[in-house]
Amino acid sequence: MERQTDVRTTQVSPAFVVRDTADHDLWGTVLSQLDEVAENLDLDPGIHAILRQPERELTVSVPVVMDDGHIEVFTGYRIQHSSARGPCKGGIRYHPAVNLNEVRALAALMTWKCAVVNIPYGGAKGGVQCEPHELSQDELCRMTRRFTAMIMPIIGSRRDIPAPDVNTNPQVMAWITDTVSMLERKTVIDIVTGKPIALGGSKGRTEATGRGVAITTLELLKRQGIDPTNTRVAVQGYGNVGSHAATILAGMGCQIVAVSDVTGGLFKDDGLDISAINEHVTEHPKGLLEGYEGPGVDHIDNDELLTSDVDVLIPAALEHQIRADNADEIRASMIVEGANGPTTRDADSILTDRGSIVVPDILANAGGVVVSYFEWVQDLQCYFWDEKEVNDNLKRIMIRSFKEVWDFSHEKDVPMRLGAYMLAVDRVAGAVQSRGVFP
Ligand code: NAD
Repeated sequence: MERQTDVRTTQVSPAFVVRDTADHDLWGTVLSQLDEVAENLDLDPGIHAILRQPERELTVSVPVVMDDGHIEVFTGYRIQHSSARGPCKGGIRYHPAVNLNEVRALAALMTWKCAVVNIPYGGAKGGVQCEPHELSQDELCRMTRRFTAMIMPIIGSRRDIPAPDVNTNPQVMAWITDTVSMLERKTVIDIVTGKPIALGGSKGRTEATGRGVAITTLELLKRQGIDPTNTRVAVQGYGNVGSHAATILAGMGCQIVAVSDVTGGLFKDDGLDISAINEHVTEHPKGLLEGYEGPGVDHIDNDELLTSDVDVLIPAALEHQIRADNADEIRASMIVEGANGPTTRDADSILTDRGSIVVPDILANAGGVVVSYFEWVQDLQCYFWDEKEVNDNLKRIMIRSFKEVWDFSHEKDVPMRLGAYMLAVDRVAGAVQSRGVFP
């Protein structure tokens, strides 16, 4: 059948324009955070200048033949912020708001995240500006394959290893694996992580980020001398990260008194029945809390969740949920950031000034990239671990990293966020310094 030849570039939705401003802010936030850390570390100005710029930025046009035969051209990016400590690592995001500054910021955050948990990676991020929910599976597959072919010159097992992020999943990783394998005429399973188990994925990867958040929370409680069974927890966002964190913490005896998702929240003063909620979410066609009813359970909105009377608040939904306009009302004395960037810089100052402890995202939600690292190690060795081995090693790395950040922050008398960034930037700077500037 002859294909139509009309070529359209993708429309940018009004939502993009709004989020674009926020995303410029995210890059601005990342840079101003780095500047603050550089001052505290008395960082060499040359190294500071190197870390303020991504090493490599690739923008690609991705033509896709749509199901009706017309061609759409999507814009994609792969940005490598730093490879000083090892191959770059970071997800691929499909979203209408993906743009150069957002990807730059997320790539830099990956550099700090890998450094703070001390795994041998640099940081990268990628994405395609698209509305994936409006694409068929076939269109998504063709877009992924073409995007992969176009970023192939800069990715690779020893160069840059992508992974899933917002709106990408193990299936997308499988298409990337297959595309690279076809073009290189050999099986290349170590090109991405977050793959299906059948294709060299790791056991324990799906739960890893939530498990890491739970381990971090328990370490914090231990330092505060608080028994988990006397701890009230609220979790915002009941997706991959939030639901696994809540389930593991409930299993350790914490009372999960509030949870929420995009459809609203649930509250029970003496603790929700997390197993019953998980059953409901599994049966819900869209995996939502919507429609859950239980004895003594009240329905609350997300603002009420954030300000509920709890010891620990785990924001695990979106960025910028705790802001200057609601930070004063947050009653939790401990905030463990499951999401990326849930607290604005102003809100962070308000919380720390009044003595709350904030465990920053680059530490608290690093469990996912740690198990991605295990997946890569297993793929390189073609030798696969059982789930216990994965979980035991994740626990070891999260506990070690928490201790390092806790001790460093106390030694320098700074909040945990600044301590985590200082530790991370110092490690990256050390690698840059040892390598020297080529040539
Ligand atoms: P997800 O899509 O599985 O879950 C997101 C949850 O947030 C859903 O329950 C959704 O309904 C809820 N939500 C959306 N808007 C909301 C709102 N306004 N109020 C309350 N809830 C809302 O995503 P995820 O993978 O769990 O990721 C959550 C966060 O964690 C993101 O910031 C992500 O970048 C970060 N993160 C995820 C991983 C990972 O491995 N999945 C790793 C590191 C960081």
